[in-house]
Amino acid sequence: MSEKRLCPVCKDPIIGRIDKKFCSDQCRNSFNNRRYSSDNTLVQKVNRTLKKNYHILQSLNKSGKSKVKRSKLLQEGFDFSYFTGIYTTQKGACYHLCYDQGYLPLSDELYLLIYWDA
Ligand SMILES: [Zn+2]
Repeated sequence: MSEKRLCPVCKDPIIGRIDKKFCSDQCRNSFNNRRYSSDNTLVQKVNRTLKKNYHILQSLNKSGKSKVKRSKLLQEGFDFSYFTGIYTTQKGACYHLCYDQGYLPLSDELYLLIYWDA
């Protein structure tokens, strides 16, 4: 078997062991760096969204316990798909947490915001 394998970074043929994936250490490093930096971008994006959510909750919940309309949250740019945890009370209420801010849907349109004293 003399199938030519090509380096995924520089497209040069790979010479040497069959399990070799890159032509050189340099190419392997630059591939791994690239992969790491795209992971980083994702992490940064999620972190930014969480931070934004957190600031929105904080700004709408100055007293530590407030009711706010869903439309208000959306208008501020709140993203309901990102949170840091879920807490279910004994009564079955399911709070979503964003760091030390929590929110609970009271109805389709109304949310209870609480300061989560963990
Ligand atoms: Zn290469």
